[in-house]
Amino acid sequence: MKLDLNIQPLSTWINTGKEPLVIAGPCSAETEDQLVATAHLLAKTGKVAALRAGIWKPRTRPGEFEGIGSIGLEWLKRAKQETGLPTAVEVATAKHVEEALAAGVDILWVGARSTANPFTVQEIADALKGTDVPVMVKNPVNPDLSLWVGALERINRAGITKLAAIHRGFSSHGASTFRNEPMWDLAISLKTHAPDLPIINDPSHITGNRDLIGYISQKAFDLDMQGVMIESHIDPSVAWTDAKQQVTPAALVEIIENITLRKPEV
Ligand code: PEP
Ligand code: MN
Repeated sequence: MKLDLNIQPLSTWINTGKEPLVIAGPCSAETEDQLVATAHLLAKTGKVAALRAGIWKPRTRPGEFEGIGSIGLEWLKRAKQETGLPTAVEVATAKHVEEALAAGVDILWVGARSTANPFTVQEIADALKGTDVPVMVKNPVNPDLSLWVGALERINRAGITKLAAIHRGFSSHGASTFRNEPMWDLAISLKTHAPDLPIINDPSHITGNRDLIGYISQKAFDLDMQGVMIESHIDPSVAWTDAKQQVTPAALVEIIENITLRKPEV
């Protein structure tokens, strides 16, 4: 598979000066206080390059919290104003893209369920035309490298060159240590086909378990991935979504401080 992507380096759109590169924030923006207070604690660590928060949440089953919606954009704006952290949200429709851009969100990402649907990805790509906002594309829920590549190509052909992939693991049936199997070979294969494409690991959605986030993060950096996106909540025990995998900002610091980066060869 030949991949012909036109990519700008990660350092053109996110602060890569903090090593390791960490994007962090709650799974979901729940209330203005929860988001802003979490953002302040994360900013204070000095180790976080961008604040993530989901406001439109694609849930597998109906009847669960599906995100706070557009009002969350105002909260993100406030979090950014008060902390200086650039913001990142998931977009799943053209309307999400338009609203997020209008609200000054810095980085967009396409979620795993959206990446699995080429019509959805194309709709997002069309809405991105004429902008140069950075976009991160999660792997699809199923272990299909072509779907992941196809989504990256669609967004890149829409003119987005500030592009990264997010490796968040793949659904499987039956009991497992992981919520989503890492299947590292797929991410490695993507790297082989597109060496310039930055890959960010998402240990939160791979593990579904806060105790394993450090282990998976280390493995990602050992495999030369460029960063991690980790869910962090001011009080994970009361989180409305993904409570078992979120970590407090203090626990996040511990995880980051325990990561060893390989020294560049001289
Ligand atoms: C998320 O990042 O909160 C999320 C919904 O992730 P994914 O698309 O990987 O399931
Ligand atoms: Mn989540």
